[in-house]
Amino acid sequence: MSNEPSLTVRASSWPGLFDCAYRWEGIHLLGMRNTVGLRAALGTAIHAGTAVFDQSRLDDSGVSIIDAAGVMVDKLRDPENEFDHGKDDITMKEAEFIGISLVSEYCAKWSPKYNFVAIEMDTKEFDIDCGNGVVIRLKGTLDRARIKKTSMGVGIADLKSGGNSVQNGVAVTKGHAAQIGTYELLYEHTTGQQITSEAEIIGLKTKGKAEIATGVIGNAKQIMVGDENNKGLIEFAANMFRSGMFYPNPKSTLCSVKYCPRWKKCIFKGD
Ligand code: SF4
Repeated sequence: MSNEPSLTVRASSWPGLFDCAYRWEGIHLLGMRNTVGLRAALGTAIHAGTAVFDQSRLDDSGVSIIDAAGVMVDKLRDPENEFDHGKDDITMKEAEFIGISLVSEYCAKWSPKYNFVAIEMDTKEFDIDCGNGVVIRLKGTLDRARIKKTSMGVGIADLKSGGNSVQNGVAVTKGHAAQIGTYELLYEHTTGQQITSEAEIIGLKTKGKAEIATGVIGNAKQIMVGDENNKGLIEFAANMFRSGMFYPNPKSTLCSVKYCPRWKKCIFKGD
């Protein structure tokens, strides 16, 4: 498409639009920010540690499990992290223990199961023509995701950390299809190569016993583009951008003062 974009957004932010669009508008169009608690920072730190380890498997640069755990600890203690300690339910020592356990187990037992071909890949700009001259441009990296190669071809493997990311021995996949579908579209757009392997969530549980498990998502791209009988989420998104109507979702798992900077002024949250 030749139109200049009306708005450029990070690809990794895009799935949040389908969670609570009103929250997404607050953060990405109105510039609202909130600080994070230690548990959210722990997630970021775990992803940093696992990413350097997986990247090193591709580069053959010799990052050890101890190095990866060290990256996790450094990231957790990064003075640039703006913690709101009112949001913490763990101490720094507990966070380090959980983080080191999960990064070590991931690097030793889980990463070697995969043939990764890209880690947090950069994507080519992807324009979505919303009509009436409104064009939204997605750009950035496939944050926290890996591209895996299997006997079925390439697919997305996305790391998700969190207190409830594993339940009954399986990674929770519910609610992640929009993000995976976006990443599949961006991968195909960037490389010209089709995604043919099913997507996988690798869940790293940060609450209670540290636990890692996987779960599968089969039809993520279809959710985005739709089929002959159903509109896809991209069409819903185009409608939102064209109309400026960003719908609230008080049932979002992020609908709390902890995670939503619009919480205090939002009349839709029902509290
Ligand atoms: S408070 Fe809840 S409904 Fe309102 S914007 Fe935030 S997440 Fe959405």
